[in-house]
Amino acid sequence: MSAFVELHEVTHVYGGGETAPAVDGLSLKIREGEFAAIVGPSGCGKSTMMKLATGLQRPRRGTVIVAGQEVTQPIKITGMAFQNPVMLPWRTTLRNLLLPLEIVEPHRSRLRANKSDYVARAEALLAKVGLEGMGQKFPWQLSGGMQQRASLCRSLIHEPKLLMLDEPFGALDAFTREELWCVIRDLHAERGITVILVTHDLREAVFLADRVFCMSARPGRIIAEREIDFPRPRDLDITYTPEFASVVHELRGHIRTAREAA
Ligand code: ADP
Repeated sequence: MSAFVELHEVTHVYGGGETAPAVDGLSLKIREGEFAAIVGPSGCGKSTMMKLATGLQRPRRGTVIVAGQEVTQPIKITGMAFQNPVMLPWRTTLRNLLLPLEIVEPHRSRLRANKSDYVARAEALLAKVGLEGMGQKFPWQLSGGMQQRASLCRSLIHEPKLLMLDEPFGALDAFTREELWCVIRDLHAERGITVILVTHDLREAVFLADRVFCMSARPGRIIAEREIDFPRPRDLDITYTPEFASVVHELRGHIRTAREAA
């Protein structure tokens, strides 16, 4: 399978000055439909990698290619969800979900005429993540886990080909987090969407990903890549097996090395 997302020898320096690069010589290739997880010490450039892959930042050196095209501006085929769900409190959950469609073409021009189709799409997504009938609630009437589910729906509403998740479960309790792992697992299986997940939770990375990339401390680059071949669909029970623990342990070793080298 050819690469769907490719970063080739990418260097990025914030501020345009002569400060130390955030990432340097960063190369990675992600296949179409693959679930990739990026792990690494805090500040190593994981979020920067996300911004480069989606065109929110341009690299100082190197190339970024997504879906066969060099990324030179923010790309539309991507959906994003972050640790903080950032829902607008004065809009209902449903209207928060519709927000990207008011911004991204071609949906923007079609929204008025096709409103009922888009609302049906939003409601189907809400049902998919266990929020059936919650569209009329305001975000502040939802729990943190429910808001994060809604935020996932919002990142998928324009049917992106690439889903970028930047520590989306970091602020949730362990139980809710594991529930949401299963939601993401099922969305990925059902839609065949390419996913890039940034996380510092190694269990999360191993449970969800087809491949885990470990980054070095700043300036970030890939220092290890681990294929995760547990059969799918994966059940949470696998996280308690010795095989699972051994992969997590191996990755922890890479992170420790990266931190010690810093
Ligand atoms: P991570 O996501 O791995 O924690 P980031 O990609 O957010 O790391 O940051 C990588 C490095 O770049 C850090 O040292 C951070 O302080 C710096 N950095 C991130 N964003 C900016 C910015 N907008 N301006 C200047 N420096 C930044």
